Amino acid sequence: MSGERAALAAGLAAHLRRRRAMGDRRVAFHPNPPPSRGVSAAATSIADRGEAPAVTPLAGDSPRAVAPACPDWETLRERVAECTACGLCEGRTQTVFADGAGPARVMFVGEAPGYHEDRQGVPFVGRAGELLTAIITKGMGLKREDVVIANVLKCRPPENRDPTAEEKRTCTPWLDRQIELIDPEVLIPLGRHAANHVLGTETSMGRLRGRVHALGKRKVVPTFHPAYLLRNPAAKKDCWRDIQLAMAELGLEPPARGGA
Ligand code: SF4
Repeated sequence: MSGERAALAAGLAAHLRRRRAMGDRRVAFHPNPPPSRGVSAAATSIADRGEAPAVTPLAGDSPRAVAPACPDWETLRERVAECTACGLCEGRTQTVFADGAGPARVMFVGEAPGYHEDRQGVPFVGRAGELLTAIITKGMGLKREDVVIANVLKCRPPENRDPTAEEKRTCTPWLDRQIELIDPEVLIPLGRHAANHVLGTETSMGRLRGRVHALGKRKVVPTFHPAYLLRNPAAKKDCWRDIQLAMAELGLEPPARGGA
C-alpha cells in the first residue's frame, strides 16, 4: 500500500513540476519538506483535498545546483529572475538582484528586499537606502556606483518579516555566487542575517561587529543594518567605527569636510 502511495505521489509530483515549468504559478515548490511529511505523503494527502501540494523541485532547478554553474553576472541575474525555489516567489513583484555589477573593491550585503525594493527591483532604496548611500558617499568618499550592494534573499518576505532559516538556506547560493563573481576585497554585511551567513556563525551582532574578520583572502567587517540605525540613531557612531575599519583595509581616507 505504501508503495502505491509513493508511486501515485511521484507521478503527481512530476505532473506538477511540468505544470510549473509551463508557467502555472499556482503550484508552490518547497525544496526541503520536513522529513516527517515527505513529498510522497504530503502530495498525496493534499491532492486528496483537491489542493495544489508542495513538491520538491528537480535538483537541477535549485539555486544550489544552478548558481555555481553561472559563468557571469548577467547569466546569474537571469537565473535569479526565474527562481521559484521557495515560497517567496509567490508574493514578489520581481526579484531584487543587486545594485552595481562590479568590478568593485567593496560589497555590501543586506537582509532582504522591502516594499520599495520589491517595487523598484533595486536593493536599498527608501530611507534605509538613503542612509547607506550617505555612508558610502559622505563617510567613505566613494560613489554608490563604486560598490556592489546585494541581499541575502532576492525576494521580499511578506510584511518584511525576518527570513526563515529555510529561506536563507535555499536562497544563499545566489549570494555566494555573486560574491565569487565580484570578488571584493572587503565585504560589509549589514545586520545579523547577512553577518551570520557570510561568517558561517549564529553569533550576535554585538560580538561580530567592531572588528575585522579574515575570510580567506577577503576581509569581512560586519556592521549594523541601516534600518536599525534609523530606529537607533545612537548606534551610528559604532557603525562609523566599523566603516573606518573597512576603509583602513581599503587604504581609504575620510573625505575632506568643506569649511571644517
Ligand atoms: S527568495 Fe531566493 S530562493 Fe526564494 S524564490 Fe526568491 S530567489 Fe528563489
